[in-house]
Amino acid sequence: MYQLKFDEKRCLACPDGACLVQCQYLKYEADSARKEMVKIFRGEDSPVLQDCVTCYACEEYCKRGNHPFYLINERREDKGILTAPRAITRQWIHIGEPKGKYELGRIGKIALSFGFMPQLKEITKGRLFEDVMPSYFFGQEFFCNVVYIHFANTDVFKERLPMVIENIHKLGVEEVVFLHDECYAAFTSLAPAYGMEVPFKSVHYFEYLYNRLTALKDLIRPLNVKVVYQRPCSNRLCGDSHLFVQKIMDRIGATLVQRTYQDETALCCGSIFRAMYGYDLMADVQGRNLEDMAKSGAEYCIFNCHGCMNALSPLVAARGMTPLHLIDLCRMAIGEKPEGGR
Ligand code: SF4
Ligand code: SF4
Repeated sequence: MYQLKFDEKRCLACPDGACLVQCQYLKYEADSARKEMVKIFRGEDSPVLQDCVTCYACEEYCKRGNHPFYLINERREDKGILTAPRAITRQWIHIGEPKGKYELGRIGKIALSFGFMPQLKEITKGRLFEDVMPSYFFGQEFFCNVVYIHFANTDVFKERLPMVIENIHKLGVEEVVFLHDECYAAFTSLAPAYGMEVPFKSVHYFEYLYNRLTALKDLIRPLNVKVVYQRPCSNRLCGDSHLFVQKIMDRIGATLVQRTYQDETALCCGSIFRAMYGYDLMADVQGRNLEDMAKSGAEYCIFNCHGCMNALSPLVAARGMTPLHLIDLCRMAIGEKPEGGR
């Protein structure tokens, strides 16, 4: 069985305990943060195992190559500490089970991955995707299964992720452009952390978009709009891709308005909190986030994940901002009409 690579010595020598010091839901000083992570590594009890709300952010805060959230997840599973009622966990696990109902486009050497999110097929249209579509795949056979780390479950992805890697490899692709953060993170963060080999190149769609916009720069008419960006929890597992948001906005002439809850201090959309930790946490996080967006004076709220978009679009619109997927904003900049907006 696959084992998480985690180096206790890095925590013992860690100067800042950033994983828990920067956590927006728990309160730790550097010294106690280090001690808790060492305790968790050694299998001892820690309040972190009870109190962590699975926002994934400590995976980004740790700059020392350890995987604090993956470790928390492992120890919760070892100790049987559930993050959600068993029925909800089972329902989610059942949804992602491979059932032989996948969908393939005309597969080339480069392909788009829609994971298991059908909405992604609707927005990958127009000139930005003309050089790769209709080379795509979709379905549970290609679903990364990373979402189960919200549920203190590692067994499912340890079993399914190697099968997904093999399924993609069998398509003969050399490069995969992932339209969903969790899928990209599955192959660039989770798989390496567990020693799984990935025999194809993984590209985040932010990088792909930026390169396409550069190639099509003569078509761009600067949008001259103010936007806020809703960063999803799953983007914390692939923080390297986040830099492209600013670069893309600069490229299309949109102003990414500064606000409190962005970049490393981003707040998640709250939908997973409602399912697992109840209404109050969701309402608090959504309320602070939306207030912050509204104060910024932005005209658009730009989304990366359709889960966030489903949860927040009506609330964003009620505050006078237009909710839009980032791809649709890019399509507007090259004179195309967005299709997957609201
Ligand atoms: S997980 Fe990373 S940030 Fe946290 S104590 Fe260990 S080395 Fe430091
Ligand atoms: S996943 Fe989020 S809530 Fe949990 S310890 Fe890490 S930063 Fe804190």
